[in-house]
Amino acid sequence: MSFLEKITEFEFFDFKEYFDSVSSQDVENSLNKNNLDKFDLLSLLSNTATPYIEQMAQQANKLTIQYFGRVISLYAPLYISDYCNNSCTYCGFNRQNQFKRKKLSIAEIESEAKVLSNSGIKHVLLLTGEDLVKTPISYLVESIQVLTKYFSSIALEIFPMDTNDYKTLINAGADSLTVYQEVYNKSIYKDVHPQGMKRDYKYRLLTPERGAIAGFRAINIGPLYGLGNVQSEAFFAGLHAKYLEQKHPDVEVSVSVPRMTKAEGGISPKNLLSDKTLVQFMLAWRLYMPRLGINISTREPAWLRDKLIHLGATKFSAGSKTDVGGYSKVNKGNIPQFELSDTRNVDEIAQMIKEKGYQAVFKDWDAA
Ligand code: SF4
Repeated sequence: MSFLEKITEFEFFDFKEYFDSVSSQDVENSLNKNNLDKFDLLSLLSNTATPYIEQMAQQANKLTIQYFGRVISLYAPLYISDYCNNSCTYCGFNRQNQFKRKKLSIAEIESEAKVLSNSGIKHVLLLTGEDLVKTPISYLVESIQVLTKYFSSIALEIFPMDTNDYKTLINAGADSLTVYQEVYNKSIYKDVHPQGMKRDYKYRLLTPERGAIAGFRAINIGPLYGLGNVQSEAFFAGLHAKYLEQKHPDVEVSVSVPRMTKAEGGISPKNLLSDKTLVQFMLAWRLYMPRLGINISTREPAWLRDKLIHLGATKFSAGSKTDVGGYSKVNKGNIPQFELSDTRNVDEIAQMIKEKGYQAVFKDWDAA
């Protein structure tokens, strides 16, 4: 069964009615189980579970230490092109947005890599907009090859591809793939992706699995919170992650929790995800999937990220720039894809992690 078939089972599911029907007894039963199923996940994501956050936090913290130890892995994004043919209504890079776009040359990518690697970062996330003409596979291969000189792990957040194309990028040196569904609700998906190849819901939904089949060792998924109903989107993210973990047990599966906090790309979030609910979701996922990686980016403010260390987070971005050429300042006057909240540098984040009694890990994987 593909994930498309799995998600289709919920096409007519009344999430509101289900969440409203969850009782305290349901939540307590879920908290007393060792292996949680999808209905336990629904119970723990419901408003009824909110008063149980403290108990969930204690159980989640124990599981996280058991499966991951007291460590937070650090990585940073590297934007190499902001050309894009899509019209995602929530993104500053959408093709309707008029600004001077930039694609880095291979020499400029190397300059960026030097600066970033000198900051201590060894895991990099390479990002582009979605433009197959401006950023063809040959360009991505060259970019990855130059990055292998500076980083031990290269993750990709690029346009969805077929399995064979992913294999080409893995052979060039990439090892991990990030692909966000943005929103699992099909009708909202169509609304916020009015044009471009991203409009194909099914192709995007099945992208993480094509990546797993191609051989990526780690896959990171998630919706953008703010577009759809936050509770049902969190449920689908958990369901998707579990599906990948069960079907591809050799792949490290993780989720990110990007949330819109203000107007992005011209639109405001319709469904705000509060700090408290974000915490509840992380705890629910951890109890549902003890081995799940949970990735918290610099979109989130410093004070909140500091607290999330004890609440199931396993990976942080650090010292991030979200504009093309942002590290070496090769492209002055550019626009970032989104605004950062936590602007601390890599050393400051590593120091904070140490003060919390955890270890900042810069390198936990090597292709060799
Ligand atoms: S979210 Fe990605 S695909 Fe959509 S407009 Fe922004 S860069 Fe392009």
